[in-house]
Amino acid sequence: MDTKIITNVGKIDTEQLNRAKQIITELQNELPEYIEHGHGPFLAAIYSGPYLISKRANTVVMDNCSNHHAEINVIRAAQSELKTYDLAPKNLDLYITAEPCMMCIGAIMWSGIKNVYYGVPSKKVEKITGFDEGFKPNWLEEFKKRGIKVYGNIETELGEDVLKQYVKSKHVVYKPSR
Ligand SMILES: [Zn+2]
Repeated sequence: MDTKIITNVGKIDTEQLNRAKQIITELQNELPEYIEHGHGPFLAAIYSGPYLISKRANTVVMDNCSNHHAEINVIRAAQSELKTYDLAPKNLDLYITAEPCMMCIGAIMWSGIKNVYYGVPSKKVEKITGFDEGFKPNWLEEFKKRGIKVYGNIETELGEDVLKQYVKSKHVVYKPSR
């Protein structure tokens, strides 16, 4: 069954979408091993065309750092690898197993990433895990204004299963106490 794609582009590019489905499926399949080694349940990868530039999972718990989300880790690694703070001229693709949270939307915007593809939407992440993804008014529109293309809700069922397993195995749902 094909879930409905969420996007801010007028016309879906089938070739790009099919490639995203393939990469996000790979990331979802790799994610349980990262979780086993103490990572949080989110994985991200940055590609330049067919070339992998960086791949990182969430390391909030192992690093004792609340901003070490997968997106921020993978952007930092790509900028370090390419020796630039501005990835825009490289026209890179960011693939994420779930929709970016409010913090990562800012990080993606400042990074110069041009294309974003994500798996499980935030509402579903919150429902399954109890993580707080923050508030994000019109982020798809705001990204569009800045020339950043977004495709989401890709291979969602597979991603939901990974998150359900994370919760079932009693891993930490880290967030500030209230
Ligand atoms: Zn985040």
